Amino acid sequence: MVHKYDTDCALLLKKKKKKKKKKNFFFLLSLFREKKRRRIEELNENMVVDGGNGDRSDWQGRWDHVKKFLERAGPFTHPDFEPSTESLQFLLDTCKILVIGAGGLGCELLKDLALSGFRHIHVVDMDTIDISNLNRQFLFRPKDVGRPKAEVAADFVNDRVLGCNVHLNKVFLFCEKCLYSSLCILICLTQLSLLIYEDGVLDPSSIIPLIDGGTEGFKGNARVILPGMTACIDCTLELYPPQINFPMCTIASMPRLPEHCVEYVRMLLWPKEKPFGDGVALDGDDPKHIQWVYQKSLDRAAEFSITEVTYRLTQGVVKRIIPAVASTNAVIAAACATEVFKIATSAYVPLNNYLVFNDVDGLYTYTFEAERKENCSACSQVPQDLQFLPSAKLQEVLDYLTENASLQMKSPAITTTLDGKNKTLYLQTVASIEERTRPNLSKTLKELGLVDGQELAVADVTTPQTVLFKLNFIS
Ligand SMILES: [Zn+2]
Repeated sequence: MVHKYDTDCALLLKKKKKKKKKKNFFFLLSLFREKKRRRIEELNENMVVDGGNGDRSDWQGRWDHVKKFLERAGPFTHPDFEPSTESLQFLLDTCKILVIGAGGLGCELLKDLALSGFRHIHVVDMDTIDISNLNRQFLFRPKDVGRPKAEVAADFVNDRVLGCNVHLNKVFLFCEKCLYSSLCILICLTQLSLLIYEDGVLDPSSIIPLIDGGTEGFKGNARVILPGMTACIDCTLELYPPQINFPMCTIASMPRLPEHCVEYVRMLLWPKEKPFGDGVALDGDDPKHIQWVYQKSLDRAAEFSITEVTYRLTQGVVKRIIPAVASTNAVIAAACATEVFKIATSAYVPLNNYLVFNDVDGLYTYTFEAERKENCSACSQVPQDLQFLPSAKLQEVLDYLTENASLQMKSPAITTTLDGKNKTLYLQTVASIEERTRPNLSKTLKELGLVDGQELAVADVTTPQTVLFKLNFIS
């Protein structure tokens, strides 16, 4: 759930920010408010009295801190806000939230949500607890090491916050229909496939707002996504550069950063000098190994007048550690929880739509409106243009799909319709099909029988739904 983002790009976007879309955003919000209102009405109609569900564990004044925001108007409330007791009941009894991730951000977020009155929280996390998590993932104790994060976090919150129901969920076992009809807000995961389009027009009642948060060291971001309406993660994929792998030429001949020196030792010197014997792999957890890499990196750095190579940095580069800072997690989780509260209650105007936080040096934060991409592969229905020569090989198309900055696919499966039949041109994920379709990669598009204007459907793990492309032959 860690997101890298490029501050320079973000700044550029900020400069481009226009006010014209403000009105539009309010309109979108009003649609969501309407959806919520309908749901409360439905609930009231179908309400089965089962002995005052939800009130059992409430004591006098328990939700006063929340009522202050919901039962009186104020200078920051939404223009259409009408104080009432309904919103609180909605939080307590109806609003269902899915939280993806019970790690550093997840622990904070679950606590924040539970104490804000949300009681129907589903949590998903496939990870187990590691001893190194305990310094910041405060729902876990030494006895929990090795147990599933989601399970321990759910138990902890349920024990601590009376009446709260944190459920475990394996996202892949989710019944899409129940989820779809009952879920109110989703945190930290794209779930665009749940949108319903009718003749290419989005059905606003199918929108499940998504709040996304990420941290990296002292930097973090939070964003509000109304899928299909405001910029989704794919719309702004260019803000997240691919994982940094330093170019070999830089490492080998022109190091400029301390990291380059460590990479030089790790990638080139270790296999050459075999300091701990033939075939001994570099172990990031072995202090003797790290010490050797550190010393050699210092030598390398001195050669190029680079300073700042430290033991910690060496270990960080070797183990590819992304530092986690508890306070950053707390700030970002709080921002996410606040946005959930604002959207669920419709009492306040939510973030529009991207917040950046940075306290590396002082404290800096700003928000900007990330704009939707007209031809976004995830949230629009428009086929994207692919420009290739008829003599281009299918391999080139595959390379384009994986290397293009706005696509960044992992193992795209390409299918098309030829003579009225579905044909798989290439598919990697099933070994037998991969073998059968591999020869296609070295064929030209023309040889494969593809024509100008041909539609290609591409499925990939990085997008929840199949992406359509239109092949345009260039001559
Ligand atoms: Zn999009």
